Amino acid sequence: MIKLLLGDITQLSVDAIVNAANSSLLGGGGVDGAIHRAAGPRLLAACELLGGCEVGQAKITAGFDLPARWVIHTVGPVWRGGENGEPELLASCYRNSLQLAAENDCRSIAYPAISTGVYGYPKAPAGRIALATLKQGLESLPGMTVTLVSFCQADYRLQEALLESG
Ligand code: ADP
Repeated sequence: MIKLLLGDITQLSVDAIVNAANSSLLGGGGVDGAIHRAAGPRLLAACELLGGCEVGQAKITAGFDLPARWVIHTVGPVWRGGENGEPELLASCYRNSLQLAAENDCRSIAYPAISTGVYGYPKAPAGRIALATLKQGLESLPGMTVTLVSFCQADYRLQEALLESG
């Protein structure tokens, strides 16, 4: 099942939240900064042991002070016009994060709109990739609930329109 939510991903009591991290996994701005602030300093200490992460891949840590049990760190592509593998890499973020959640016995996972902030991926195509990839992944994970978290009302409306048209 796919649900939409308008709000702050750091507040969600789900099994796993996805962090739109950078490849160092050592923290950044946007949702990454918010997750590190809310999870506390033990999250950075855990991330330091992971040795970074490739674009499109995902790694897991505990959620520490978050209500979520796990944080799945994935690195979205930087938008460079769309002809540099961005769609495949973005799909890979959604797919690998979902897979990692399933491997860790999660039944609920929440995603921010990966790559659509500082990394500049246009929101509508990014949203379509998120929905298509997650729908496909959920076919083999019938017990999993996915929440797509929008951080502002305009993003929420866009997600709503995309979900209805799909
Ligand atoms: P990226 O570097 O992958 O583009 P950003 O963190 O800059 O990552 O932005 C990704 C998306 O996360 C943006 O749509 C932004 O509005 C959203 N976002 C930022 N903070 C939060 C938060 N606390 N909860 C949910 N979404 C957030």
